[in-house]
Amino acid sequence: MMMKKAELLAPAGDLARAKTAIRYGADAVYLGGRSFSLRSRASNFSMEDIKEVCAFAKEYGCAVHVTVNMIPHDEDFEGLKEYLIALQEYGVKAIICASAAIMKICRECAPKLEIHCSTQMSVTNSEGAALMHDVFGADRVVLARECTMEEVKKITAVSKAETEAFIHGGMCVNYSGRCTLSNRMTLRDANRGGCAQSCRWQYHLYDGSEEITDDPLFTAGSRDLFAADQIYDLMAAGVSSLKIEGRMKTEYYIASIVSAYRRLIDEIAENDGPLSEERMAYHRKEILRGENRETWSGFYEEKAEENSLIYHPNSDANVNHDFLGTVVSYDPISQTAVIETRNPFSVNEEFEILSPRKENRIMKVTWIRNEEGEYLERSKTPMAHLTVPAPFEMKKEDIVRRAG
Ligand code: SF4
Repeated sequence: MMMKKAELLAPAGDLARAKTAIRYGADAVYLGGRSFSLRSRASNFSMEDIKEVCAFAKEYGCAVHVTVNMIPHDEDFEGLKEYLIALQEYGVKAIICASAAIMKICRECAPKLEIHCSTQMSVTNSEGAALMHDVFGADRVVLARECTMEEVKKITAVSKAETEAFIHGGMCVNYSGRCTLSNRMTLRDANRGGCAQSCRWQYHLYDGSEEITDDPLFTAGSRDLFAADQIYDLMAAGVSSLKIEGRMKTEYYIASIVSAYRRLIDEIAENDGPLSEERMAYHRKEILRGENRETWSGFYEEKAEENSLIYHPNSDANVNHDFLGTVVSYDPISQTAVIETRNPFSVNEEFEILSPRKENRIMKVTWIRNEEGEYLERSKTPMAHLTVPAPFEMKKEDIVRRAG
């Protein structure tokens, strides 16, 4: 019997990125509305957008989860019931929340919505998971990123609620967002959606009163989680959902990371067991093509020691220039495609075309023509519309990146 696939849950910072994640293979997307959500600054979803993404997701058999994960004070509840009722009507599957009060209100006024207990509730043990299910009515518990693999296995084995685990993306250097650094430095409340990422700022570092001058400026941000090597164990443990973090990330990041994890999860399920080192090397490389920060495997196998931090800004600025553009149109008669450019490329370079739910395809760029009909040796201008040969069919919004 084929191994049960876990859900691939992807972030969506806005409507375009939600559609990208869905088209590139997510089983579910999570997003925040303009109220009641952490990362409210990353939440560009109006009520109309949420309705639209639900309709779009339905076509693909994809679920929509909405974060209602602020830590509310008394004055924060106004309009909550109406909001939850509207989400239920639009066909949202679940809300992700970090407050027992919001869970209770949701159960009363929008009982068809599943309740997913946010990672902000820091569930790190079986008793905690049981409490969330039995007392607060949670259908799913998003486990704290601070759990080890052994803990994930133990909790999942006994939990009546489904479990969800993070597999990729940003980590908080504090304890899953339980942090007041941003509040103190900027008066922006991290627990009400205002985190200014103060841990990633650049600081002068002192040893006592003496500045350490032979170092570049210091940051305290965490490396990103990269748990490709843990996917088999998480699936074998029965974890229901594998979550990618990153509602602030670009469409290119979403397309490349989601499609790479889609293929990894499918292959593990089909193989019904762990993959060979050769196949894992392929998947690791594919996933990391979209990543631009240093990574580590999180708390699954290790403690948060030196290898979990990004100490210097340069190590955080490994900017990825592989994203060359998106396909605007394809003409099967002339076998050409128009590309809207992002990063520069030259004649004789190889493109890798990422199409939703397809193997990536490689082609050589033998010529480049601009909108004035002139032939170029090199594309230098971002957002230009350039025509290139297209030896196979491409679709609007396919991603073009440098082959590598
Ligand atoms: S400032 Fe850094 S550690 Fe604090 S909540 Fe924001 S991301 Fe997390």
